[in-house]
Amino acid sequence: MSTQEPAPESGPESAEAYHARLMDQTDAAGRLPFTVDEAMVAWDIYPYELDGLRMKPLAPLADAEPDRQGEDPATCRCRGEGFAEGPLAWSNERWLLKVLAGGLPSELMLQPRAHHDLADLPADLAAEMGVLIAAVTAAAESLPSVHRCHLARYGDGGAHLHLFFWARPARVLQLRGSTLVDWADQLPPLPDEVRRANAEHVGAHLVAAVGGQGPSGL
Ligand SMILES: [Zn+2]
Repeated sequence: MSTQEPAPESGPESAEAYHARLMDQTDAAGRLPFTVDEAMVAWDIYPYELDGLRMKPLAPLADAEPDRQGEDPATCRCRGEGFAEGPLAWSNERWLLKVLAGGLPSELMLQPRAHHDLADLPADLAAEMGVLIAAVTAAAESLPSVHRCHLARYGDGGAHLHLFFWARPARVLQLRGSTLVDWADQLPPLPDEVRRANAEHVGAHLVAAVGGQGPSGL
């Protein structure tokens, strides 16, 4: 190494440096190059045709992260009325499994009753969450119209921990993988009676596996 070269920086990269590296690759309009080869858009699961598709201009680095709903626990939905009322596929003294409306055979959201995010979840609840992730997955995958249940945690909108379970329809192969949520945005909503019957199936499966209470408020 030449003695004229700056010493390599040590430690993890800053937010500014990360964003600056992205900006270095943008064109005059601020767009990142649109790559097709070996990118998600080349997969047969990608939902959109490429004609006219382009990247949005990259926004400047934000000055700070915005507050999420419930960042102050006193204002979180968990402190409001109706938080635990459902519709629920299953619940116990510590957890709620909510039934979401959507077009997939089953869309569920697992939340602790107490106010925690994932990074501050106490060890006993984290251990139980692991058991529940496996049990909810098994319950959803036992639905006849489902082949695989996908698990997601984003947490960018709400500070109260919420895990999503998206049931991928059996034999609808274009809905495999991480573009499932993009497809799901455009699917016709599940009829109420189908959502109710599927949630009842999942709830009964869970009660048999881990105890707790079955569906309510469907
Ligand atoms: Zn909360």
